[in-house]
Amino acid sequence: MPRHVLVVEDEPSIAETIWYALRTEGFDVSDAATGGDALAKLASETFDCLILDVGLPDMSGFDVCRTLRQTSSVPILFLTARDSEIDRIVGLELGADDYVAKPFSPRELAARVRAILRRTNGNTLNHATSAPNPSPSANTLDHDSVRKVIRCAGQSLDLSRNEYHLLLALMKNPGRVLTRDQLMDLAWQDPGTASDRTVDAHIKSVRSKIRTLAPDFDPIETRRGLGYALRD
Ligand code: CA
Repeated sequence: MPRHVLVVEDEPSIAETIWYALRTEGFDVSDAATGGDALAKLASETFDCLILDVGLPDMSGFDVCRTLRQTSSVPILFLTARDSEIDRIVGLELGADDYVAKPFSPRELAARVRAILRRTNGNTLNHATSAPNPSPSANTLDHDSVRKVIRCAGQSLDLSRNEYHLLLALMKNPGRVLTRDQLMDLAWQDPGTASDRTVDAHIKSVRSKIRTLAPDFDPIETRRGLGYALRD
């Protein structure tokens, strides 16, 4: 049975790119251009996943999420255009399952949707994914210092520069808790531009990229009130 995804995006060119990427991957796709339209569709149809733009013409994606969460636990992937929105998604615990920042690659978006569906609906989609078959022994992180890539379960992680240095700092100190300040100093070229929330948002993104390659692998541990550590 194809999975049914609702794409809530008011910009037609972006919406079309997403529909195309998802339909190519075999998803059944519906669309809504406003928050009101989305809530009406969600009230009358069942969806396996929601892709929700934050900036909608009639209400914000946050409002849609808040309203929806009163009655539904459908997985939500936010589309964001600004760092300040990422901070809100991470900081306010809106009940989002993931987010993708614009501009994004349609392939990455489709991979994130597959990862969300794997997490929320067991393994029924495994046959449809191009990711390697995850096995417990494959859940490793390796650093290739020559190519400057980090591999997860044998595949290169597609990390931003800051994400790469952040994960590398944790890998170089396995089992040791690094505070957000320490991580900023180690990973950011100009640490003054980062905030605690920025570190949290990057950790969230790294975790999500690791899950895309190894769904059951969660090597980064959150130590509440302290910082982050890589599991030994
Ligand atoms: Ca928009």
